[in-house]
Amino acid sequence: MKKIIIYVSLLLMTCAAQAENTLGIKEPMKQGGYYVGKVNPGDKVTFHSNTVKQSADGYFVLGLGWKYKPVANIRVDHKAGGHTMHQLDVVPHDYDVEEITGLPPKYVAPPKEVQERITKDALAVRKVRTISSDLDNFKEKMIWPVKGRISGRFGSHRILNGEARSPHTGLDIAPGAGALIVAPLGGKVSLVSDQYYTGNTLVIDHGHGLSSVYAHMEKALVVEGQMIAQGDEIGIVGMTGRATGPHLHWGMNWYGERLNAGVALGIE
Ligand SMILES: [Zn+2]
Repeated sequence: MKKIIIYVSLLLMTCAAQAENTLGIKEPMKQGGYYVGKVNPGDKVTFHSNTVKQSADGYFVLGLGWKYKPVANIRVDHKAGGHTMHQLDVVPHDYDVEEITGLPPKYVAPPKEVQERITKDALAVRKVRTISSDLDNFKEKMIWPVKGRISGRFGSHRILNGEARSPHTGLDIAPGAGALIVAPLGGKVSLVSDQYYTGNTLVIDHGHGLSSVYAHMEKALVVEGQMIAQGDEIGIVGMTGRATGPHLHWGMNWYGERLNAGVALGIE
């Protein structure tokens, strides 16, 4: 029985090696990355039994979770008939362990009276992450929102005041207080909110479920519903909310899936 399983997996591997990536997606894919592909308009793209939204000209975007398995299976059902299975390589990533001490205790274990606010904050963000607009700014080649020292990496396991916490969900950039943040991709501002943990927070919808979040800002320079182009000024770096120093916490999402903003810029 064991032998049969080995033969089957060898066969699958052979198929994977021979499969041509005609989607325009660069392999190997990286955990936490998002990828833009293209099919013939009208073809149906399926990823984890979900139909992936595509633009009228056949572009789509999908994101991989931070611990995504080694192979991404994408199925394309052709409008003209038949289907193609794409097995794309995904390389695993080693995540750091990050220790942060000296945080005010109120942020490590928030007092009861702010629980309601924290829940409300999280709901507001979760809600805008379900947006599946027709914007196609996800196709743009990403630029840095601000340049500076990388003070925290995506996926690092955080230990706050000696207590293990869930992994860090963004990339932290510390250019100094007052630095201007620009939009790394164009889109529509879906949320401007003052949050307990993340301070002055901004979410931008880039289309097809791809969104980005900017936290701890001194202030936002845009308003909800505003259309913005790549490179437009969107906020100012600060240290509002739970922050030990001025920095931008920058996160990306594909719907509810948290992504590593740095992958598209070659920073992991
Ligand atoms: Zn952060």
